[in-house]
Amino acid sequence: MSVSIDEVCVYFSRLESLSSRLEMARMLGELLKGLSVPELAPVVYMVQGQLNPPFRGGEMGMSSKLVLRAVERAVSDASIPLSSRPEDLLGTLGDPGFLVEQVLEGRSGKSLPLLTVFEELCALSEHSGEGSQDGKVRALAGLFLSLSPLSGRFVARFVVGKLRLGVGDATIVDAMAQWQGGKQSKTSIERAYNLCSDLGRVATALGQEGMEGVNSLSPIPGFPIRMALCERLSSGEEIFDKIGVCAVESKYDGFRCQVHSDGSRVQVFSRNLEETTSMFPEIVEATRILFGNRSVIFEGEALGYNADTGGFHPFQVTITRKRKHNVLEKSLEIPLKALVFDLMYLDGESWLEKPFQKRRKRIEELFPVHAFAMDEHETAPAGVFGTSRLIVADHPSIIDQFFDEVLEEGFEGIIAKRQDGVYTAGSRNFNWIKLKRSYKETLSDTLDLVLIGYYAGKGQRTRLGIGAVLAAAYDPERDAFVSIARIGSGLTEENWIVLREMLHASEVPDRPRSVLSEIEPEYWVEPRYVVSVRADDITRSPQHMCGREGDGEGYALRFPRMVSQVRADKGPMDATTVSEVKTLFDRQRNLLARHRKPGNEEVVKKREE
Ligand code: ATP
Repeated sequence: MSVSIDEVCVYFSRLESLSSRLEMARMLGELLKGLSVPELAPVVYMVQGQLNPPFRGGEMGMSSKLVLRAVERAVSDASIPLSSRPEDLLGTLGDPGFLVEQVLEGRSGKSLPLLTVFEELCALSEHSGEGSQDGKVRALAGLFLSLSPLSGRFVARFVVGKLRLGVGDATIVDAMAQWQGGKQSKTSIERAYNLCSDLGRVATALGQEGMEGVNSLSPIPGFPIRMALCERLSSGEEIFDKIGVCAVESKYDGFRCQVHSDGSRVQVFSRNLEETTSMFPEIVEATRILFGNRSVIFEGEALGYNADTGGFHPFQVTITRKRKHNVLEKSLEIPLKALVFDLMYLDGESWLEKPFQKRRKRIEELFPVHAFAMDEHETAPAGVFGTSRLIVADHPSIIDQFFDEVLEEGFEGIIAKRQDGVYTAGSRNFNWIKLKRSYKETLSDTLDLVLIGYYAGKGQRTRLGIGAVLAAAYDPERDAFVSIARIGSGLTEENWIVLREMLHASEVPDRPRSVLSEIEPEYWVEPRYVVSVRADDITRSPQHMCGREGDGEGYALRFPRMVSQVRADKGPMDATTVSEVKTLFDRQRNLLARHRKPGNEEVVKKREE
């Protein structure tokens, strides 16, 4: 027995009157339970306000004006007597749904099968070309005249994209779990949804083979996998405490692209699972060349590439590639390169459950070009795809150091990944942890530090000849300059160039005797110049000499950046001393301890945000 549009709309109206999510799930579960297999997906999509899964862009979104024209036509075709003109009625009622319901009042409609109405709506949405508006008006008027008032209300709202039953995807998942008898099924249903982003597909599998059908769903090209997301922590130490030895990657700021190929068609999906294929012609072409008729799903971050500097553009430039028109012209001006960071599916097999380490190894085989080497290749695929930059960290300080380097290169932070972590589709958890500079600032004072060396730039800084400096505090007891931070940010390009010239002029071949540092910069300089530095925190570090006693740990700065050019008013011995650093460290520790007192969680949370 097929369900009628009227029966479905009775449920819609009940759903609309409920406010408890639990009740809604129960009600929707009851509706789904009574449907035949072919009806399941259409009803699920309609509840979502769509004709297709959302990633296919199935909202009808006709204008109220068009619906009004359809109503006027229906009124005239069926000679329906009305107290006022449809336009005035719409003005009073404010809702095309109520308008159609009122116009149809007293008519019984034919109680069409749901599938017939759904097919008509699909046909309506496909009307295009010359005269399509008139065609739509005619078809919609005919459809309205065959509906009951209640169905008219919901169909009219559906076509203008305002069904708004208040049922989100999570409630639909709950409804399916209810239908299958409860909570145990929910995890499997969620898993299936995360793999394909298509609740209609999940419902159909449930209808066909019950939970067995759902459990056997796996990723398939053309259906975006809901994206894995990061938790956040605020230091290398916290990350290391949480996940131990881990992979750490640069966090690039561009477009997240989930690329699918079934061997003939390549598609690209965005972070929010919209299809964005047309925006990325170079990625589509490179995928075709690289994978031919193989099937694959992988993810990477696409960044605008600056051929003049051999580096990546900042996000503000990359974002200009987000366009529907003149894509090809723009792609010549700002070509994109994609740094691949995950692999989810290959040659018919899901890779989601494999540990990250193994996925990464395969990525490196499939995309053998490193992020830094991409500019050596002009043509696809090597010039388009590279792997994200990655290190393996077996100590918190290595995470912090990598973080500093990544900022020097102009990127926004890092993502640490659990080595044995699976790809957790649709979930934010500690398998991936992001760390960005802004997360925590407990150190508000600046320090005046002496520059003792510098590094030639990498990535976007190559052409400046300087990417970072090594800085020291002053230790009066030893009368020495003791290393405390490698600093790669805070200055404008012009100021970096000026600083490079000053440092270059005071280069020395070896570490000066008055300098204590186990870290070797690329170029040592006379300890002469002082700069003001701001940092988020002072931490203990085995790498720096500042405050180190015997085999103990020294002090280091977390996320340091220069806030001044060289200070003409300060000589090296006017720099911040080791004991001042120690005082700042103690003060910061007390401050955090105070914040962490019971009842102050809010304050701590705010600071951490
Ligand atoms: P944000 O606004 O910080 O980018 P988000 O909510 O979009 O956050 P998160 O899970 O917090 O997403 O961060 C992951 C995002 O970082 C991904 O969506 C991806 O676009 C981007 N990204 C950049 N580089 C990488 C990388 N190496 N590995 C994974 N994701 C990366």
